[in-house]
Amino acid sequence: MEHLSKQLIKLDGKSYRALKSIQGAYDGDMVTLFIDYVQGDPFAAPSRVRVFIPHTHTDLNPSDYVKPDQMIALKHFFAKECHKQLQNVKNTISGTGKSGLIFIDVPGQEVIDRTAVFMTPKGIEFRLSCGLPAQGRRILGHQANTLLTSLLPKIIINTVKNYDRESLKKALILANDQKHIRLELKKRQLVSFIANNSILPRKTGVSHKPMLTQDAVPFESPAKDEIILKLPSGKQIRGMAIKKGVTLITGGGYHGKSTLLQAIEKGVYNHEIGDGREYVITDESAIKIRSEDGRMIKHVNISPFINDLPFGKTTEDFSSQNASGSTSQAANIMEALEMDTTLLLIDEDTSATNFMIRDARMQQLVRKDKEPITPFIDRVQDLYTEKGISSILVIGGSGDYFDVADVIYMMEEYQPFNKTREAKKIAQDLLTQRTAEISKPFQTLKQKRMIDKRRLFQLFDKKEKVESKGLHNIKIGKTIVDLTYLEQLVHQSQTQALALMIKRIIKHSKEPLALKEAINDLYEKLEHQGIDSLSPFAGQHPGDFALPRKLELAAAINRIRH
Ligand code: ADP
Ligand code: MG
Repeated sequence: MEHLSKQLIKLDGKSYRALKSIQGAYDGDMVTLFIDYVQGDPFAAPSRVRVFIPHTHTDLNPSDYVKPDQMIALKHFFAKECHKQLQNVKNTISGTGKSGLIFIDVPGQEVIDRTAVFMTPKGIEFRLSCGLPAQGRRILGHQANTLLTSLLPKIIINTVKNYDRESLKKALILANDQKHIRLELKKRQLVSFIANNSILPRKTGVSHKPMLTQDAVPFESPAKDEIILKLPSGKQIRGMAIKKGVTLITGGGYHGKSTLLQAIEKGVYNHEIGDGREYVITDESAIKIRSEDGRMIKHVNISPFINDLPFGKTTEDFSSQNASGSTSQAANIMEALEMDTTLLLIDEDTSATNFMIRDARMQQLVRKDKEPITPFIDRVQDLYTEKGISSILVIGGSGDYFDVADVIYMMEEYQPFNKTREAKKIAQDLLTQRTAEISKPFQTLKQKRMIDKRRLFQLFDKKEKVESKGLHNIKIGKTIVDLTYLEQLVHQSQTQALALMIKRIIKHSKEPLALKEAINDLYEKLEHQGIDSLSPFAGQHPGDFALPRKLELAAAINRIRH
């Protein structure tokens, strides 16, 4: 570290470029600092550093974190702790551009595997970014020295010395309990569990943080659907069990239907303590299905839902540069089935009406041979009985669904009530008069779907750059991939991982490229080699990224226009 100090002071006032010479590893009293990448100028993407602190200076016992869930919870916890330290520390370093900036990739509410923190049997490593200080294009050597040799080590030492032991313990216990609930879902043939007293609503439409407790109505299961789970921690929780099959959530507008469904859809991830949805756990393969008009579709068999398009266009191998609401929703389902989802989540708010319903009167006026769409209402039971795919549907606008739902809930003032019996009775008394429109049982095409690797390769620029922009965009060369409607993509670091994964798949997959196989291969490798291995800089600061699900990777690839 002393060597670095001297070097930085010597560099004071010199041209910024000269900073490149400090790349390397430096041992301090307690930590080792790795300067892996130095930015080209004070405005460029910040420099990448790692700070490693051996377990001789921590009270962490690596053997406590051998299970993957525990390790992920630990990394999440320390990334947040480090972020807290960064916010609290007095940092007066400033200058041109990003001078003095220090950050770690801070997790959201969802606990997902990420690169920000890394633990080995020997110690724990924090991956940070910092803006090395300059005035204009001249190095501020003294300030750079303070930042790198004093401030950074201090922040990391504080993080591992002053963290709340009790909170970490609780986070690990929670992770273990959540894992248990996931296993329990499988054992009991359930698709989702929502614990009593969960806080489902969020602070605002754009915040994932919980609504303040004084404003939120805590969740309470209908008595009939309540189960008790004994968790490994010794805790017993009660809550609502949603079974496999077709579940309908209905109720008046503004009574909390969409909020419940959104909590269920995020339940594919574990949530951190204090989120309100810690014990809302959903089948990990669940996917939110919505309409997405304007999206591109390439070679998808949407024939279970759409047939006999005008001018005889085939729907068994359907492509479009600009899909309609209903065809996009059909494609979203078929692509998710390809990736082995077993639970579809659909909200009327974000669905194409003509995809969801077609009532008796409309059937009379527009004859079946003039309507390409087989509405979801005629497929939803079939999907479950033939393919084992469950659905949870939010529908307040059509009682026709009473006929095809196995269980019917009604939301009233943010609480669910089991109204299956009443609704089924109504369905008997008040017949819909509609005729079911299925001509063939639900079928997906047997052969694997191939991706045109050559065409994807042509999207690359000379540097073969694939970049993420925020949560919703990936740029391949000049082409933007729009991920706005992937509602279960929750953190921009996942999008960053998607960018790396897409590049990897375009470059390194075998040809011909079968989408599902390529994705499965990639995830299998990551499981063995860790997520760092996605980065071209593995072994150094790998960049800030977090693991997305296979479903979102497939969805991203399916949205690349070429
Ligand atoms: P719906 O889909 O039935 O029309 P929403 O789920 O959109 O209703 O909820 C309407 C409003 O009520 C939203 O602003 C939401 O944040 C709020 N809300 C939902 N559930 C709760 C709850 N349990 N406690 C307090 N407010 C809630
Ligand atoms: Mg709604």
